[in-house]
Amino acid sequence: MPKRYLIANWKMNLPPEGLETYMRVVGTAPVADILMVVAPPFPYIAAAHGLRHGHVAVGAQNCADQPSGAFTGEVSPGMLRGLGAIYAVVGHSERRTVYGESDALISRKLALAIATGLTPVLCIGEDLKVREAGHAARFLADQVKAVTSPALESADVIVAYEPIWAIGTGRNASGAMCAETTAEIRDAIGRFWPARHAGGSLLYGGSVTPDNVADLVSNGHIDGFLVGGASLDSARFLAIHRAMTAG
Ligand code: PEP
Repeated sequence: MPKRYLIANWKMNLPPEGLETYMRVVGTAPVADILMVVAPPFPYIAAAHGLRHGHVAVGAQNCADQPSGAFTGEVSPGMLRGLGAIYAVVGHSERRTVYGESDALISRKLALAIATGLTPVLCIGEDLKVREAGHAARFLADQVKAVTSPALESADVIVAYEPIWAIGTGRNASGAMCAETTAEIRDAIGRFWPARHAGGSLLYGGSVTPDNVADLVSNGHIDGFLVGGASLDSARFLAIHRAMTAG
């Protein structure tokens, strides 16, 4: 059975209530079969790790594709492990579109993260043009195929379906659309990663809030959520956790 996750992606933000309060409140989530992960900006990973309560783990929002060396501005998976991170988001659409990350780079990041003992959260997702042209299934399958490697099949890689048109826009996929698209992604994963690790989970991300999460929980056929904006407020993040435990 794939594990269930609720992952907070703070992006380049800090929770207005402060790190300490945030970690304490989020740590009050009742122990359930849901793994909670907080991914702060790099400089706050160690502090967040030190302030953990309950069963919350810490992750990174990105990682380098190289273990060390002359790569100015990069942070290696080994360094992130040293700070306490055990997850790393890889291939977020903001990395792909704003910073031009290629599938080849993402594939190298995945392989090194896995080799270093980080659990990667691979993000894939189509933009509105692709969705409206009816090509989402093919586009997502191509994204899965493009990063395929033997390392990916044997490791516990989390995949997050994050349609670009839903990220930070306030426009989320419905549960039904999410179910249809994640079935297509599962089909692609089955074709390209036939020996996929049984623990591999499939999450949804894109404008998830406490107000819209119930439909996604009930009808989305997913193993959890990657949450941006609504994860910056501990009460809202906890409310999403509650909806998952109720659903
Ligand atoms: C994200 O950045 O991964 C994300 C899902 O953001 P938001 O929830 O704000 O749409």
